[in-house]
Amino acid sequence: MNVTIIGTGYVGLVSGACFADFGHTVTCVDKDAAKVERLNAGEVPIYEPELDRLLEANRAVGRISFTTDPADAVGKADVVFLAVGTPSRRGGGHADLTYVYEATREVAALVKGYTVICTKSTVPVGTGDEVEAIVRQVAPDADVDVASNPEFLREGAAIGDFKRPDRVIVGAETERAIGVMRELYRPLFLNETPIIFTSRRTAELTKYAANAFLATKITFINEMADLCERVGANVQDVARGMGLDKRIGAKFLNAGPGYGGSCFPKDTLALAATANDYNSPVTIVDSVVEANARRKERMAQIVIEAAGGSVKDKTVAILGLTFKPLTDDMREAPSLTVVPMLQKAGAIVKGYDPEGMDEAAKQLDMHYASGTYEAIKGADVTVILTEWNEFRALDLLRVKAMMRGDVLVDLRNIYSADAAARAGLAYRSIGRTDAP
Ligand code: NAD
Repeated sequence: MNVTIIGTGYVGLVSGACFADFGHTVTCVDKDAAKVERLNAGEVPIYEPELDRLLEANRAVGRISFTTDPADAVGKADVVFLAVGTPSRRGGGHADLTYVYEATREVAALVKGYTVICTKSTVPVGTGDEVEAIVRQVAPDADVDVASNPEFLREGAAIGDFKRPDRVIVGAETERAIGVMRELYRPLFLNETPIIFTSRRTAELTKYAANAFLATKITFINEMADLCERVGANVQDVARGMGLDKRIGAKFLNAGPGYGGSCFPKDTLALAATANDYNSPVTIVDSVVEANARRKERMAQIVIEAAGGSVKDKTVAILGLTFKPLTDDMREAPSLTVVPMLQKAGAIVKGYDPEGMDEAAKQLDMHYASGTYEAIKGADVTVILTEWNEFRALDLLRVKAMMRGDVLVDLRNIYSADAAARAGLAYRSIGRTDAP
C-alpha cells in the first residue's frame, strides 16, 4: 500500500519507519525543510533507539522517502496519516488543532482517487468530524473517508511498541475505510495483536482516557510516597504489594518527580477541557493535573531541605534532564521546573544528560557538564532526576570523593540508603522512610 504521513516528528517518523518495515511504501512529509534535509542525508533528527537502523534498511530498498512537498505522495496514497503536533492552547488547556486543520486543508486539495485520511495525532473528540467538514469544503468531490487511529507508542521504546502493540484502535465510519485500515495493519495479525474497530469519536476518546488513567496511576503512587514519608512506610513495597494484584498491575507504580513529556501533561489538560465543554466533569483528572504540578515544585523543595535548608551559593549537580530515559525529549520535563527553582533559591546548577543536552540547552540556562562524574565534580548536592542506565550503577565512593559536599538526592529511588551511607553520603530518596 502507499502510505503518506504528514508530520515527521516522534510519531510520524517512527510510524513511517515501521509501516515501511511492514512492506508498505511510505512517504514522510514535513514542512520543516531542515529536518527533511537531514533525513535525506541519512541523519535521524531525534534520538530513539533502533530508529536509525530501521530507517536505513528501508531507505536502502526504496520503501521510505522524505519530502517537504506533499503533492505527489498524497495523490497516490491509499492512506494519509496526520501526525502533526497538537500542543496545549494557551489558557484553558484545549488542544491546539491549528496544525491538524492546516494539514487537512493541504491534503484535501491534493487527494486523487479513494483515500483514507486518518488522524494519528492525539485529537479531542469531534476533531474527525471537523476534518471531514474541511475536506468536504475544500474538495467537495473528493472520494475520502476520515478515520482515527490514535498512537500509543512510548518514546524510548517506540519501535517495539509500534511493531508489537498491546492493541491497535481504529475509529472508522465506513466498511471501505475499515477494509483499508485492516489491510494496512495486516502484518500485525500474524502476532495476534487485537485490532479494535470503533466509531471515530470512541477512538478519539479512548486515547485520552488511556493517557489520563496512566497519569492518574503515577500521581496516585506519588501521593502514596508522600504519605509513606509521614507514616514511616516504604512506597516501593506498597507498590509491589499493590501491583501483584492483577486488577491493578505493577506498571506505572514507581514513585518519582511527577510525570512530564509531550503527552500526559497536555492530554490530561485537553481531556479536562473537553469534559468541561460537555459539562461532564472529570474531577479525578483535574486533581491529577494539580497534584502533578505541585509535585514538580515539591521536588525542588526536597533538594533544598536535603541541602540543610538552603542551596544559596551551593553547587547542585542534576543527573538526567529529559522527562524520562532513552529520549532527547525535554517537553514538560520535571527539570524545567526544578532547575529554575533551585537557581532562584541561589544554587549554581550543573546539569548532565546522555542524550538531552542539546534540547535542554534551548530551555535551561545553566552549566552543562560533559559527563556524569564531570557534573558531580565539586558539587555540594547531587540529584538524580531521570533514571538513565548510566546513573544506575554509579560508584558511590567515587561520587563522594569527587563531591565537595555529601548530599545525594535520589528522586528515582535507584539506590539503597545502606549503600549510600556506606559511601559516606547523606541520602534522601522518595517515600522510603524505612528502607535499609
Ligand atoms: P512533533 O512535534 O515531534 O512532530 C510534529 C511534526 O509535524 C513537526 O516535525 C512539524 O514540523 C510537522 N508539521 C506540522 N504541521 C505540518 C504540516 N502542515 N505539514 C507537514 N508537517 C507538519 O510531534 P510528536 O511528538 O510526533 O506528536 C505528534 C502527535 O502524536 C501529537 O498529537 C501527540 O500528542 C501524538 N502522540 C505523541 C506521542 C509521543 O510519544 N511523542 C505518542 C503518542 C501520540
